[in-house]
Amino acid sequence: MDRREFMKSAALTSAAAALAPATAPALAQPAAAKTFVGIQMDIGRILSDGVDRVLDDIQRLAHVNALFLYTITYMEERVHARTTAPFRGGNFATVHPQYYHDTLLKPEDTRSPYFPGLDILATVVPAARKRGIKTFCWIIEDNTLPNVPNMDKLWEVGLDGHPATRHPGGPCFNNPNYTNYLLGLVEDYCRSYQVDGIMFGSERQGPLGYSLGAYHNGARADPATTCCFCSFCESKARRIGIDIARVRQGYLALQKFVRAGRSNQRPIDGYYVAFWRVLLQYPEILVWERFWTTGQQDTYAALHAKVKSINPTLLAGWHIWQNASWNPIYRAEQDFAAMAPFTDYVKPVVYNNCAGERMISYLDSVGQNFQGDLAKSQALDFEYKVLGYNEAPLDKLAAAGFSADYVYRETKRTIDSLTGTRTQTYPGIDIDVPTAGGHSKCTPEGVRDAVLAAYKGGAQGVVLSRSYSEMKPENLRGAGIALESLGLA
Ligand SMILES: [Zn+2]
Repeated sequence: MDRREFMKSAALTSAAAALAPATAPALAQPAAAKTFVGIQMDIGRILSDGVDRVLDDIQRLAHVNALFLYTITYMEERVHARTTAPFRGGNFATVHPQYYHDTLLKPEDTRSPYFPGLDILATVVPAARKRGIKTFCWIIEDNTLPNVPNMDKLWEVGLDGHPATRHPGGPCFNNPNYTNYLLGLVEDYCRSYQVDGIMFGSERQGPLGYSLGAYHNGARADPATTCCFCSFCESKARRIGIDIARVRQGYLALQKFVRAGRSNQRPIDGYYVAFWRVLLQYPEILVWERFWTTGQQDTYAALHAKVKSINPTLLAGWHIWQNASWNPIYRAEQDFAAMAPFTDYVKPVVYNNCAGERMISYLDSVGQNFQGDLAKSQALDFEYKVLGYNEAPLDKLAAAGFSADYVYRETKRTIDSLTGTRTQTYPGIDIDVPTAGGHSKCTPEGVRDAVLAAYKGGAQGVVLSRSYSEMKPENLRGAGIALESLGLA
């Protein structure tokens, strides 16, 4: 049975029968959801299935009323379309050059040539609006340097003086060529199409977290490539009185500490003490970390102001990297209360199923430096205590993933942080985010419980994630079942 046939039959019959609470109404017509139900939509499925078919399916299965459309990406795996031509990503909408100013990027160069004649927003927005479905332009920073003229001049420069070419380096928030380009891009989208707003995602962190490899898959990062030391950052630092020479010395000392740990050379006083010694000797390390984060947050604020200047009813919100679920330093930096004045909504990533293996990957990395004194199981206990989780022990974690309780706790933490503000919380729900073989996989019941947990935590909506093409229909249906059982659809 192929995917489409499966969607027609199994999702609406067996999954519903197995999952629907006894009191839930029979699913006849898709009901309009009484809450915000977003879904991250790749263009591949729209091209392969047709926009009406896709909208039919997501409404019927999960009562979706908002699309987060990947309108621009240079990464083939985010597009989910396969043709024989070599992939060239970029902007899948029409580029209107009049909205772009003061950037080295030529807007026409950012247009993807991969699907000639395609304008994804012109294709999707009118069809979605006809059904009362909102469309948000979903702009996520890519993980590798795209092959676009002058793009390299927007990217960060590492401690070693070499331009960054991949994550966790990326375009520099202190480089006006990048921020002006972003402002032009959102202006283009918001003025040229009847969209409902944007979501911007920056899955990166400052030089401290980068040097320590304090993120999942972080053990791969070489602290010598820590960013950013570009000329724009240096000029800004000088203007505000930061001693860039001391910053460099500090990061070189941190590099030495991390490299020794990666070679299993335990410091005489232990990892934790040695880490603090570096920080105390070079407090500029923290100054530079804050400098980077301020650049990121200032960019959020500028994007929000731009969107509101075009139309105050449009929404601007942020996808918050899941690193906040394991790295306490990053969590401290992503301060929702401080972000509220320039944030209409946040989408904290609470992908529970893949969180197990991601947490382990994080521990594998920081266990080679500032948490190196702890056994891995102790480091995990520390994480659970510090971050407020009650999840599986180390030996069962990869197979179990995180539970719906994690979704509840993270949603509640976000809601509590935003008390007294107008910022909405739409947690990102894991539906078949890929995991390694033998590790936890999503189920209809697991997705249902994650959605229920988000609402129990006070969420005003959800964003079904991370890409429609990855989602098995029966698992997507789990979200619909939860909404029905809550009386929200
Ligand atoms: Zn820079």
